[in-house]
Amino acid sequence: MSDSLNRVEISRSALRHNFTVCRELAGNAAIMPMVKADGYGHGMVECARVFATEGAEAFGVAEASEGAVLRKAGFDQPIFVIVGILPETLGDILKYKLTPALVDGEILSELSDRAVLNGTEVGLHIKADAGMGRQGCLPEDIPDLVNRIEKLPGLYLAGIMAHFPMADEFDSPNTLHVFSRFTKAIKEIEENIPEGCILHIANSGGLFHFDETRLNMVRPGISLYGCYPEGEPRKADENESLEPVMKFTTRIIQVRTVASGSGLGYGHTFTTVRKTQLAVLPVGYEDGYLRSLSNKAEVLVHGRRAPVVGRVSMNLTLADITDIDSDIRQGDEVVLLGRQGDDIITADEIASWMDTISYEVLCLFGNLNRRYYVD
Ligand SMILES: *Cc1c(COP(=O)(O)O)cnc(C)c1O
Repeated sequence: MSDSLNRVEISRSALRHNFTVCRELAGNAAIMPMVKADGYGHGMVECARVFATEGAEAFGVAEASEGAVLRKAGFDQPIFVIVGILPETLGDILKYKLTPALVDGEILSELSDRAVLNGTEVGLHIKADAGMGRQGCLPEDIPDLVNRIEKLPGLYLAGIMAHFPMADEFDSPNTLHVFSRFTKAIKEIEENIPEGCILHIANSGGLFHFDETRLNMVRPGISLYGCYPEGEPRKADENESLEPVMKFTTRIIQVRTVASGSGLGYGHTFTTVRKTQLAVLPVGYEDGYLRSLSNKAEVLVHGRRAPVVGRVSMNLTLADITDIDSDIRQGDEVVLLGRQGDDIITADEIASWMDTISYEVLCLFGNLNRRYYVD
């Protein structure tokens, strides 16, 4: 594949730095980097390599198929499949020795039969809904699942987990409420829990704001990719400061000047009120630079901010460079996400223009464009 004019650059040193920040905060807890969604758009295998070198104890993916890719790439850490299992994914679970979340008892006897037939043992993590209100068993159903796993051959209880719905809001009482529901349920069955069973609940929000929730293992995602779970602004502790990992750039395909009163692009959603110099950018919603950024976003040209004017279309976007008094030429680099000169456009800032969160911005840009690893 030839190079596109649009580039996503991933900084391995920033990944390493962010992992170190998480390690520091995690204390004695193990770290399971979440590398689902192709590493939140940063490349699952490449990121997992960095985290493995830094000592990650496990990896978290959404589906068994992603776990298969990690195994084939040579990782031997436990790989946790967070969305659970259907009969057709059992093949991958067994073949690649993946560790699935167990959300109810439906699959248990079939899984046990298949494991025995294969001569292997499958480790399971019970996924409890302790207040997330999305997926899993209720806390009161944990004991029954623990007992059934114990009785069935070929299966063992490797962990029990839950997930926080609001750990990004550090003044919300919800997190400690969910945490106590989880720990209370565990306490009641303490003597039935096998040794080595890993208890885990903290995502980035839990890790950064609620020390007591770290338990045996933490599951950071967004913080490893350089964004704070609560977005910006944030009063970051010096030694908790994260580095953005992704940069998204394009190149000016044309510089042109239009008269005052010119309607720009589809729908003429912007009309110039002065003689305007435009940079035409070969990027659009096909590349994840969504239409909702029309007339809202800013880009960096020669280290200065230029507003996006008119509709973002499939492959073309316009930036108003009239106020930038340097010699801007066709071919010059334009930064859509990341640093140029003294300024930086963050994923959180783009997310605010798109009315979404940094997670979605990173997935869109990273997974729709060619990635380059720069250090
Ligand atoms: C995605 C995910 C995480 C990571 O959350 P961040 O907010 O990105 O840190 C942790 N746990 C589960 C179950 C997840 O699905």
